[in-house]
Amino acid sequence: MFFGGDPFEHFAHGGGGRGGGGGGRRPSQAADTTKLYETLGLEKGCEQAAVKKAYRKLAIKHHPDKGGDEHKFKEISAAYEVLSDPEKRAKYDKFGLEAVNDGGGGGGGGEDLFSMFFGGGRGRREQGPRRGDDVQHPLKVSLEDLYNGKTVKLAVHRSVIVGETSQCQTCDGQGVVMELRQIALGMVQQMQRRCKDCGGQGYACETKKERKVLEVNIEKGMRHNQKITFRGLADEKPNVETGDIVFVVQEKEHTTFKRKGADLLISKTISLNEALCGFKWLVTHLDGRQILITSKPGEVIKAEGPNGTPYVKCVDNEGMPSHGNPFVKGKLYVLFRVEFPSDGDMDDATTTALKKLLPNPCMDIDYDEEKVEEVALESADVKSFGKGGAAGVGGGAYDEDSDNEGGPGQGVQCQQS
Ligand SMILES: [Zn+2]
Repeated sequence: MFFGGDPFEHFAHGGGGRGGGGGGRRPSQAADTTKLYETLGLEKGCEQAAVKKAYRKLAIKHHPDKGGDEHKFKEISAAYEVLSDPEKRAKYDKFGLEAVNDGGGGGGGGEDLFSMFFGGGRGRREQGPRRGDDVQHPLKVSLEDLYNGKTVKLAVHRSVIVGETSQCQTCDGQGVVMELRQIALGMVQQMQRRCKDCGGQGYACETKKERKVLEVNIEKGMRHNQKITFRGLADEKPNVETGDIVFVVQEKEHTTFKRKGADLLISKTISLNEALCGFKWLVTHLDGRQILITSKPGEVIKAEGPNGTPYVKCVDNEGMPSHGNPFVKGKLYVLFRVEFPSDGDMDDATTTALKKLLPNPCMDIDYDEEKVEEVALESADVKSFGKGGAAGVGGGAYDEDSDNEGGPGQGVQCQQS
């Protein structure tokens, strides 16, 4: 005979088949004939009815529409496509998936796959009610109200369902119509279309507008973008769990106080005199209280902090109340600016007096008046730094000069040689 080592190799799909027993067409041991069953969680010899049952259960579970994995869903659908067809299933049982694909030639079968379960009034997609959209309203709140807390009454207009709702006949209350399309052998693409008859609602009903007054409780210490939720008060829609009305706190900018978390910041410009000799400052806080901020005796407020940072000090427990724990407050930061006297403010008498009083007066220095030139300071802008000198004089001009006069470059070379 022509056979090699293995008499049944000829029949094996995928090669390397190995079998025992008599002649005839035999199942290839190498070709997989169980994976499709495993995909649907079935035993190989199961009844035909069990295939449909298993698929339906899994398709619902892994439906991409319900957050399932699309790949897994396609796998399940492909497995079902083969096993639901007794002819294809028989081929697969004996020779594996290749045999199914070889013989089948694709096409057909897939299109009505889904409608079997989800359309035609025979089945119903088993899922809980969808959740309706939330309605968000920005709510501008002053820093005073966020500090003190406040309850505001706000009227909202919402639609509510009147009477009974009836299911849409076209989509069976689903709001969507399913379509399956075969895109390759054993591969189906699931398409979902919004039902035209009910506009995707699934149900038809009468609604009316209702005005509702909500008491919005702005709690002490609430922050920018914090949400205040009224459960289930959005527009009512049939067969949909009503969404929430959500107010989103939008903190208004304050003219005096800046806020970050539970801390507040306030700016204060003081004179050089106050910076050196001390100051008292009356501040009206966000709750209307007046607080007196004073420097300690002998304390000097500087023009800037270390490394050029703004010079700040803080008052403990005078910041914002913490949300949920309003008795614990943040800090009140004070950012200082020291205003120096202007040129005209300093007459001879003042400078003489100050020179005596302030520490570290400028020391007299020795220099030769014949050799040292005295220069004056003019007004300047640091942005102009680097733009000095005559315009249009660059490196090129310098090079030309040095060539003509046997400049420094050449001079050095001559000395070396
Ligand atoms: Zn419909």
